[in-house]
Amino acid sequence: MQITRRNILGGAVAAGASLAAPALVHAKAGAAHVVVVGGGFGGATAARYLRLHAPQLRVTLVEPSRTFYTCPFSNLYLAGLRSWDSIGHGYDGLRAAGVEVVHARADEVDAAARSVKLSSGQVLHWDRLVLSPGVDMRWGALQGYDEAAADKAPHAWKAGTQTLLLRSQLEAMKDGGLLVMAIPDNPFRCPPGPYERAAMVAHYFKQHKPRSKILLLDAKDSFSKQALFQQGWKAMYGDMIEWVKQSDDGQVLRVDAGSLEVETAFGTRHKADVLNVIPPQKAGFIAERAGVTNASGWVPIQAESFESSQVAGVYVLGDATIAAPMPKSGFAANTQGKVAAAAIAADLLGQERPEASYANTCYSLIGPGYGISVAGVYRARDGKLIEAPDSGGVSPLDGDARFRAAEALYGEAWYAAISADMFGAPRR
Ligand SMILES: Cc1cc2nc3c(=O)[nH]c(=O)nc-3n(C[C@H](O)[C@H](O)[C@H](O)COP(=O)(O)OP(=O)(O)OC[C@H]3O[C@@H](n4cnc5c(N)ncnc54)[C@H](O)[C@@H]3O)c2cc1C
Repeated sequence: MQITRRNILGGAVAAGASLAAPALVHAKAGAAHVVVVGGGFGGATAARYLRLHAPQLRVTLVEPSRTFYTCPFSNLYLAGLRSWDSIGHGYDGLRAAGVEVVHARADEVDAAARSVKLSSGQVLHWDRLVLSPGVDMRWGALQGYDEAAADKAPHAWKAGTQTLLLRSQLEAMKDGGLLVMAIPDNPFRCPPGPYERAAMVAHYFKQHKPRSKILLLDAKDSFSKQALFQQGWKAMYGDMIEWVKQSDDGQVLRVDAGSLEVETAFGTRHKADVLNVIPPQKAGFIAERAGVTNASGWVPIQAESFESSQVAGVYVLGDATIAAPMPKSGFAANTQGKVAAAAIAADLLGQERPEASYANTCYSLIGPGYGISVAGVYRARDGKLIEAPDSGGVSPLDGDARFRAAEALYGEAWYAAISADMFGAPRR
């Protein structure tokens, strides 16, 4: 049996030095304790699957919000195609699965002492720590765009008050107005998300403000599912959406939230009626406090388990990680949560870890009954994540109306299924 895979649940502690040793000492008295920080796609999944794999484990989930609003389908809310309530999820399903849910923020991690300090002052000790804190905005990366500016020019890149603000601004906008979106370079949360948002706002405009326009200013020259998006935009919204790539002067460098103006790299100024600025991002702050980020601001991980490459016993999931070629998506975070949960449970139970396999599908809605998707399967090879040969792909460009309608339905089914998978209760 390997040193790091000893059975600590029964208190059996083998001799020998190991990075996991402090946890073993602590865990001797009872069941091992896994603390999960962040109750979103990665964290909620990991917490639930840890209990499924090993009901004898004590699992505590730390999450400030009592209701988690998903970014997936928040663009449909902007379109008026989903209610706000329908994308909110409570934590009772996780409690029913035996997860202890603590509504607080994790403020400090002491990896040597294996403890995490919460905003409530409570200190939790762990044998394994899972972090899935999502992203934080890099305030100031675009000159003039800070937290105060986001109150006027929302990013709406975390679902919550920002999304509600953007929707209310779109509602208040006059017909014939201009929505300007500033879109960051890779890597960022949800590569197809800005382009689905453009389509969903276009759907809303088409219904309520048909003379309005959408200008996408992009800090890159190509994007996820590009040909499919551009085909769908044209088919459903004519010339309502204009995309400007980086090399055609699309990159926004400065934001004046007071006057709702942006300035590009070539010095062009654009004035908006509604300004949606999606700034560059980094791993949620607790990752840095735990010492798991590198100079990029993101978290290097071991491809086999999503254990940090830098701090033993700390697992990091989802958007916070450097997991390319996997995208920063909810589905990706969900499968990473399952793999990490299986690896942690195996280690703590003294069993062999199952082989890691990851998947992703991102559905995007262009309009009612018009869906497109990208899918991939990933494996760990020689310490790296690779795309499984001959797996995945995008929807065919020549798909007919029935195909697009089927993909829109699959997207709805995906949302119901992953909601149940994470929170133990489906949402339709
Ligand atoms: C507009 C939009 C549309 C999207 N659509 C899709 C889609 O259709 N399909 C898809 O797969 N993905 C989609 N995504 C991407 C998806 O939302 C993210 O990839 C996913 O949420 C990442 O999961 P995560 O666990 O890393 O972070 P999150 O799901 O954001 O969870 C992080 C959680 O951690 C909590 N947290 C943060 N810091 C702390 C702390 N210090 N202490 C305690 N808790 C903390 C936060 O409150 C939050 O609840 C979309 C994203 C956007 C913005």
